[in-house]
Amino acid sequence: MTLDILGTPLDRLIRFFEKDFGKGRFHAEVLFREIFKRGNPGFLQAPEFLGSPKFSAELEGRFRLDPGEVVHIFQEENLTKFITRLSDGLEIESVIIPMTRYHTLCVSSQVGCRMGCRFCETGRMGFKRSLSVSEITGQLYNARHTLQKEIKNIVFMGMGEPFDNYEAVMDAVQVMNEQKGFDVALRHITLSTAGLVPGIRRLAGLNLPNLRLAVSINGADDATRSKIMPVNRTYPLNTLKAALMKFPLSNRGTFLFEYILIRGLNDSPDHARNLADFIHPLPVRLNLIPFNPVSGFKAEPPRDSDMHEFAQLLTDKGVFVIKRWSKGRSVSAGCGQLGRNL
Ligand code: SF4
Repeated sequence: MTLDILGTPLDRLIRFFEKDFGKGRFHAEVLFREIFKRGNPGFLQAPEFLGSPKFSAELEGRFRLDPGEVVHIFQEENLTKFITRLSDGLEIESVIIPMTRYHTLCVSSQVGCRMGCRFCETGRMGFKRSLSVSEITGQLYNARHTLQKEIKNIVFMGMGEPFDNYEAVMDAVQVMNEQKGFDVALRHITLSTAGLVPGIRRLAGLNLPNLRLAVSINGADDATRSKIMPVNRTYPLNTLKAALMKFPLSNRGTFLFEYILIRGLNDSPDHARNLADFIHPLPVRLNLIPFNPVSGFKAEPPRDSDMHEFAQLLTDKGVFVIKRWSKGRSVSAGCGQLGRNL
């Protein structure tokens, strides 16, 4: 059996070593250190493996390390978007966003997406397939070791709906979180959903309060939201809110809500008041993002004055609002634009 190493959580690797070779945690942790922390595909040359030549010889050819090939890199100031070609030739996009002291990596979980959000280029591509665990973690491997960026934060806000690929995404979270490997703290990992309520409920059942949950809202009355997010017809706002009310957050934990403002569609004072009502009493940090142009959807970003008024109305009602002036527009790496360069 060959093991796809980027898709293998540590406990599974330990079991594999025990079962097939009579070895265990010690060597598994060395392998994790070499591959995940150091990006060293020649891990068998590590002193710990050189000290066990028979074991090392048996391991030859038993692992597959394939993070995908980075085929294009786009740069806008400090922001980097890269395209990875997968083993079947399909391509995905990931974005590295500079923060004050480190970088955030925005990963994809699917090729395309079946949620069909109108403001989103990926949604317009349609759905091709879900990514495997190693195709998700491979994006982090490439960002850290191929592109040499210090990544401390992961957001699942790239192509795809993470809860539509639930098992692979949760395994990828486990691999990314492993202290002996990539070592990304759960509180630095955010899953972003369009509001796929069964996924929210499943995640709630795992009771991982440190893992962050973001919800793309974009409308706080069913008519407006259904117009731009078809998922709302299956899981309307009251169902979504009920799931969020039961979600286990850590003591001072909050949800992250994203609201893309589209001129004349969801940016009026009434929309803001509805949103404040929907949010109450949930603990929420709200990102307000002006719409980024995408192909095939005739819409415009809000006027600056409307965005300020919208934000002020929410702030007055006690909502914590962050206005995000989109980064990455010129390389189509802004919110909703991934998929344009494929
Ligand atoms: S916004 Fe997210 S969920 Fe909606 S179509 Fe785009 S990738 Fe899919």
